[in-house]
Amino acid sequence: MDMSDRPVPEGLRGELHADEPMSRHVSWRAGGRVRAFYQPADVLDLCEFLRTRPADEPVLFVGLGSNLLVRDGGFEGSVVFTHHALIGIEVESEVATPHGMLAFRAGSGVPAPHLARFVAKHGGAGAEWMAGVPGTVGGALAMNAGCYGGETWNHVIAVETVDREGHLRHRTPADFEIGYRHVASHSGADEWFVSGVFGFQPGEERAAMLHIKELLQKRVATQPLNLPNAGSVFRNPEGDHAARLIESCGLKGFTVGGAQVSPKHANFIVNVGEASARDIETVIDHVHATVRAKTGVDLVREVRIVGKA
Ligand SMILES: Cc1cc2nc3c(=O)[nH]c(=O)nc-3n(C[C@H](O)[C@H](O)[C@H](O)COP(=O)(O)OP(=O)(O)OC[C@H]3O[C@@H](n4cnc5c(N)ncnc54)[C@H](O)[C@@H]3O)c2cc1C
Repeated sequence: MDMSDRPVPEGLRGELHADEPMSRHVSWRAGGRVRAFYQPADVLDLCEFLRTRPADEPVLFVGLGSNLLVRDGGFEGSVVFTHHALIGIEVESEVATPHGMLAFRAGSGVPAPHLARFVAKHGGAGAEWMAGVPGTVGGALAMNAGCYGGETWNHVIAVETVDREGHLRHRTPADFEIGYRHVASHSGADEWFVSGVFGFQPGEERAAMLHIKELLQKRVATQPLNLPNAGSVFRNPEGDHAARLIESCGLKGFTVGGAQVSPKHANFIVNVGEASARDIETVIDHVHATVRAKTGVDLVREVRIVGKA
């Protein structure tokens, strides 16, 4: 019997679901199933779970699935679902910070908008942009999420990671190669984020909350937030905007099945009905090929795609 068909193995305290539809856990509300879906009870339970998995089994950490598509044929491995699990958040007074900065520790499953408000409420400034990124702290660390001039790793003092054997490690930014929407561990081994310590300048709560409100209003005005989507599909090429290039190719409104290039924001693909992962990927491929043919720009995908077609 496949392990994923069993109840939670002895010694584990989290929830294990076999054959879980990932459309329930990704913001596109589309895509295939995963063989084993585990929601750990806490960090130690997560370590224990990783130790139970076969060494060659693919493991995928998922936060709020706001940058992720699992193909319709599904993902033959384990998903670790951090949201609802690794959710501790606190002002960190033990960590030395440069230039009078305030430090905050947040678990990987904490939603980034929650961290933004927590920092603001505790007298920190500079996290406001996170309020509009509908993912988790772990997803923001993995993607180096950013917007409106802010970028996740500009604020990282340290992170805690876990490896396949369930070993926890403290790491600093020097342990990673960090770029635009790109983060890779120098160690090269499979390692996932458990928590992060972030530094922010002192600020004023009212000003930060107002800034959050303004940035969110800007998003509502420019992004198709009423339909399932995964934010920007492509990275912005240097000195330009992917949305401008896509729009210039006349692709706004281009539709395959239930997937459509948003008429409101050309770098968003929206699920207008019962989109399959294949519909979404077909639109992505078409946009990529058309922009390359018409403008010569080879757009790089920002959203992560995993699994079998
Ligand atoms: C409406 C909308 C607006 C958006 N706006 C922005 C924006 O302004 N700027 C921006 O950068 N992004 C934006 N995004 C994209 C997305 O929200 C971010 O990339 C976010 O950081 C993803 O977090 P997540 O928890 O949803 O990650 P997921 O989608 O769950 O995962 C994304 C990737 O991160 C990996 N990952 C997740 N958690 C961990 C972990 N704990 N350890 C290691 N790897 C992990 C996953 O395996 C996957 O490869 C937007 C998305 C939407 C839907």
